[in-house]
Amino acid sequence: MLSGGIGGATFTQGLLGCVDDETEITVIGNTADDIWLHGLKVCPDLDTLMYTLGGGIDPERRWGRAEETWAVKDELAAYGAEPTWFGLGDRDVATHLVRTQMLSAGYSLTDVTRALCVRWQPGVRLLPMSDDRVESHVVVDDEESPSGRRAIHFQEYWVRLRASVPARDVVMVGIESARPAAGVVEAIAEADVVVLPPSNPVVSIGPIVAVPGIGEALRTTTAPVVGVSPIIGGGAVRGMADQLLDGLGVEVSAGGVGTRYGARATGGLLDGWLVDTSDADQLDVLEDAGLRTRAVPLYMSDEETTAQLVRDTLALAEEARA
Ligand code: GDP
Ligand code: CA
Repeated sequence: MLSGGIGGATFTQGLLGCVDDETEITVIGNTADDIWLHGLKVCPDLDTLMYTLGGGIDPERRWGRAEETWAVKDELAAYGAEPTWFGLGDRDVATHLVRTQMLSAGYSLTDVTRALCVRWQPGVRLLPMSDDRVESHVVVDDEESPSGRRAIHFQEYWVRLRASVPARDVVMVGIESARPAAGVVEAIAEADVVVLPPSNPVVSIGPIVAVPGIGEALRTTTAPVVGVSPIIGGGAVRGMADQLLDGLGVEVSAGGVGTRYGARATGGLLDGWLVDTSDADQLDVLEDAGLRTRAVPLYMSDEETTAQLVRDTLALAEEARA
């Protein structure tokens, strides 16, 4: 499994409910959302995965800790300490303190993530895509800049600006020299099935497959590689991913995203791609692009719909293997 935060975590939780205890699941989490705040290393997607699968997530917000309080955030704001727009909860801060302390002591992010998971027991092996620093930056218009543009951290674009201004481009700072974390390439090579859950194609799956070596591992694995569209109809489900796709000139549709990933047979990343039943008109363009595809309900509204989506995904993988 390659995963961002909410979409990937929801799907993975459903997957855990559909497999037996013997099945080993490795989740390769996006780390290009990571940000240093007030001296702390924050890994939003790894934490969403860890808290969701480990039972510590806030069920309404679907990020951060349940029963969270915000005294640290309020105290920082009282000092005028910037940035004030990022939700750093008191319980959550403990995770970032432990992580930052271990990183300062010389442990890799892979080691730190493993250590944090000892507490959360997510039921999967959670690996960061890379131990190296990679950051998604979004290029936005800026009248005051000589170039007329400015690149800001993805979190500033997403959390402070709520994706309210056009994204002209997305740049993965540090990606060229990033190496896959230990175990990532092997997990893909040795997998029985590789799944791209409904995660943001630009800033969640995009960075993972852009780490040199990971895209290659996907293209060469003997396992079927299947994905689930995060776009239903003409927009992102519970999110703003459409803004980023627009900015990159990708059509905001299940077909647009699927054909952008492309078929492995023609140098792309996927064998199969699921679209929503309401997007059945996209099947032709996907099949023309060499993808095996089906239209099934993609909205993960509760345990049962998520479980059915997981079964449909695994069935598509079996078809692709045949
Ligand atoms: P993030 O890192 O927290 O933004 O999470 P992800 O990248 O893993 O997932 C975000 C994506 O999940 C968004 O682009 C949504 O369109 C998609 N998404 C959220 N809920 C659903 C759902 O129920 N079904 C489908 N198909 N996609 C969903
Ligand atoms: Ca994310």
